[in-house]
Amino acid sequence: MLNTSEFIIQSLVEDAKLSRGDADEIRRFMADKGATLEDAAIYTKKIGTRDLAVAKAGICEYPFLDLSMIDADIRNSRRLNNSISERLVAFPLYVLDEVATVAMEDPLDLQAMDQLRQVLRRQIDPVVCDAEQLRMLIARAYSLDAGDQTESATNDEATDHEQEPIVAAVNQILFSAAHAGASDIHVNPDDKSLHLRFRVDGVLQTQQGPAIAMHEGIVQRLKVMSQLDVTQTRRPQDGKFRFRHKGQPIDVRLSLIPTIHGENAVLRLLRPAGSIGAIADLGMPADVAEQFTQAVSKPHGILLVTGPTGSGKTTSLYTALNSINTPDRNIMTVEDPVEIRLPLIRQIQANNAIGLTFANALRSILRQDPDVVLIGEIRDEETAKIATQAALTGHLVLSTLHTNDAAGSIARLREFGVPPFAISNSLLGSIAQRLVRRVCTSCKAPDTPEPAVLRSLGIAPDTKGLSIGRGCPSCMSTGYKGRAGVYEMLSATSAIRVLIERDATVSEILAKSRAAGMRSILEDGIEKAMLGITSVNELSKLHATVDLDSTIEEPLKIPA
Ligand SMILES: [Zn+2]
Repeated sequence: MLNTSEFIIQSLVEDAKLSRGDADEIRRFMADKGATLEDAAIYTKKIGTRDLAVAKAGICEYPFLDLSMIDADIRNSRRLNNSISERLVAFPLYVLDEVATVAMEDPLDLQAMDQLRQVLRRQIDPVVCDAEQLRMLIARAYSLDAGDQTESATNDEATDHEQEPIVAAVNQILFSAAHAGASDIHVNPDDKSLHLRFRVDGVLQTQQGPAIAMHEGIVQRLKVMSQLDVTQTRRPQDGKFRFRHKGQPIDVRLSLIPTIHGENAVLRLLRPAGSIGAIADLGMPADVAEQFTQAVSKPHGILLVTGPTGSGKTTSLYTALNSINTPDRNIMTVEDPVEIRLPLIRQIQANNAIGLTFANALRSILRQDPDVVLIGEIRDEETAKIATQAALTGHLVLSTLHTNDAAGSIARLREFGVPPFAISNSLLGSIAQRLVRRVCTSCKAPDTPEPAVLRSLGIAPDTKGLSIGRGCPSCMSTGYKGRAGVYEMLSATSAIRVLIERDATVSEILAKSRAAGMRSILEDGIEKAMLGITSVNELSKLHATVDLDSTIEEPLKIPA
């Protein structure tokens, strides 16, 4: 897991602004003293605060401003009292009608941004500044201009008090959602109450909602955070903002739609890059993990991940990228949407409205000398052809396809008109996956399903180890906590390549692959149920989503 400070340290090392030894010393100082990166920089003197600010600006995508190049108006100290300015390490540089440009040490600090927005009563446009310069400016401004702050301070407090319950409610909602690992927050008003629901592990869960009286305030607050038009309540609006949870910035996409009971808000929480772990943590069976790792470490070729929406394909691809994300590789992506921002990787958002289709973006990317290219999805003939061509000309290409199973990806590439030699020479492998819910480990108990249910799934009725969650506070009474991937992988071995080259049927290819040990998604699911990782109920649902006719043409290989 990497936090923002660690990203900054790494990018400084990569830019040769910091030696590895000095980087370690800074890390030690931070760990020993519980210090911030800025403090560690100032005390250890291993890195200039200016270089640090430039690196931080690059990572959080706000501009860097050299305070020595401008003549800051210290009269702006009247707008922000001394203690707040010092505590937040922030100073307003320019204050226009609706926007305040504020010099900050850390614009990713959501609470600081909140407070500045309230006190300055404007949208905040942060610029990242050298911490030492900024602290000097603050000291200078307040010692030279100790003007009468009584009036504005009183007003600020009045606003603070008025806004406090709303701000606290919104912060509480965001905190609880991030804490629960929710992917979405739904704020739905009706005529009597305000319903709050979190989507956790793919399922909506009802939460204790705030009073309906707070609805308007909450929506207004979300609009302010997303810098949307607060006066517009009759049209749908989309916005985004960022907050911090346990030191990690979390990006949020806000969607507002007016209903007869007021504005309905849905917030999508994008996971921080730090949530992407190692391939070993994906829960793939050992042989699949090994084949997947091997495919990802190849210098060129195409690796496909298939499955329906919400099957965890993106996580697998990002994990693959993460495992090869080193400064000596140029990695570029084209995605729609960019779901997680990865450090050091150039991510491009496809945008059909301006003609930046996957195919067009891909053509441009290939002129940027990439080593590795991730294409969010191959959904048309043109993209399929450019992708395989790129894989044949020395690039590692990772992408997803909408097919049910691993072997289906070969059929899909054929449908897209990719010639057999191009598929056989470029394909490294194809992995299909789904997500099943994990049985909650706090309330796990043995499960004894009906024998008929077990037989329909191909599980022996006296099988031991099947588990179910009874429901407890830890899993919000659902019996499940978290999700696990179930996988099948078709590796393009030389035998498989020969079959692809001579246009063999998919069932022939599948039979060959299974003879070499490939196991199906359902077989992986059964194994995970027998290990008590998931339940038979989840397996029944999985069974329904897997198109058996196309995958299984011989009896299931049930692990003993
Ligand atoms: Zn539980």
